[in-house]
Amino acid sequence: MKSTSRDIRIRNCFSVLRHLIADSPTSRQQLARATDLSVATVSNLVTDLIELGVVVEIGREDSGGGRPRALLAPNTGGGVLIGVDVAETYVQMEVYDLGLSVLERVEERLDTSENSPGAVLGHIVDGVKAARERLDGRPILGLGVSLPGQVDVAGGVSTFAPNWNWRDVPFRDLLEQRLDLDAPIYLDNPLKTVTVGELWFGDGRGVDRLAVVNLGTGCGAGLAFGGELYRGASNAAGEWGHTVIDLEGPQCRCGSRGCIEAYIGAPAILRQWGELDERAAHGSQDEAMAALAAAWAAGEPAAAATIESVAVKLSAGLANLVNVLNPDLVVLIGWVTRALGDRLLPEIESRLPAYCLDATLGSLQLKVNHQRRNMVGLGAAALALEGHLSRINTVGARARR
Ligand SMILES: [Zn+2]
Repeated sequence: MKSTSRDIRIRNCFSVLRHLIADSPTSRQQLARATDLSVATVSNLVTDLIELGVVVEIGREDSGGGRPRALLAPNTGGGVLIGVDVAETYVQMEVYDLGLSVLERVEERLDTSENSPGAVLGHIVDGVKAARERLDGRPILGLGVSLPGQVDVAGGVSTFAPNWNWRDVPFRDLLEQRLDLDAPIYLDNPLKTVTVGELWFGDGRGVDRLAVVNLGTGCGAGLAFGGELYRGASNAAGEWGHTVIDLEGPQCRCGSRGCIEAYIGAPAILRQWGELDERAAHGSQDEAMAALAAAWAAGEPAAAATIESVAVKLSAGLANLVNVLNPDLVVLIGWVTRALGDRLLPEIESRLPAYCLDATLGSLQLKVNHQRRNMVGLGAAALALEGHLSRINTVGARARR
């Protein structure tokens, strides 16, 4: 696919705004340094961002003898963005200002009887209505929704959510009908939104080749190149959990055998522990994972052996990803990563050299995510922000005619 000058302009616009939000208040000159763009290019983009109502000048700073420089900040008094994280067990909705700070948060539990499209839509509609009443008339500029499973982004359709048995649900249309909102709605899945969140606010900011590896009940990778999310031909890029590491391996829920997820997905980890210690793995999945982490920290042999086996498989799986993509940074994220904590990192680092080529390992940074924010919801809101920013070309063109 060819990059047009419009694509480049939008990409530069994202880059300028990411630095502006992170370093606010800041000046055009500092932004030019941070983004490696010329001051003239940054000034043009800032003019457009001000015209779009996303950025404001909030004062001036002394420039050491020259003309005082204008200080720029996100227009936090402007419109708002809404990010919705729909997971198997909850719906969390956050309202953000244009600096991507959280203004409101609504969370509702979902139980297994409530996973019909109508029930999930109902929770989102109720949440948006409640939030709207507290916005004092501030406009909603966009709504991003993260839904589990496969999503057709262009059509706004949940094509397949295996845990809910949804197929081809026209979720965006249904939500538009129920919300009657004068703002665009963006739909995607958590791997994509979490990666957009990392690009805007996490360790991925300014990273050229990024893989965000989610370890949870399922496993997958979100990919971004040149500061942009990589979706693949059908928005299915990053299905790393279903790369096969053993043709004779255990059955995976995708129908294949020996997928990496069949070894390091939470159910597989807990099953391995249960096979070594019959007292292990009681209660809910997250309670059992917390118990495993505690047993590992206490030096219990069954827990240590389980973690060792997981670390070997995870390292081999990560090496496959790293050898194919040669990324600058891999960020480990997800509730299993959180449960097992920082002690997981040295277990992987010590084993990666056995599977990675020197050429790909030498340039690799591996990190465990420490963000306390809901990166899925933040990423969904950032998708809505990106959608809003894509209007910049028409706004800017009009301004300079
Ligand atoms: Zn699989």
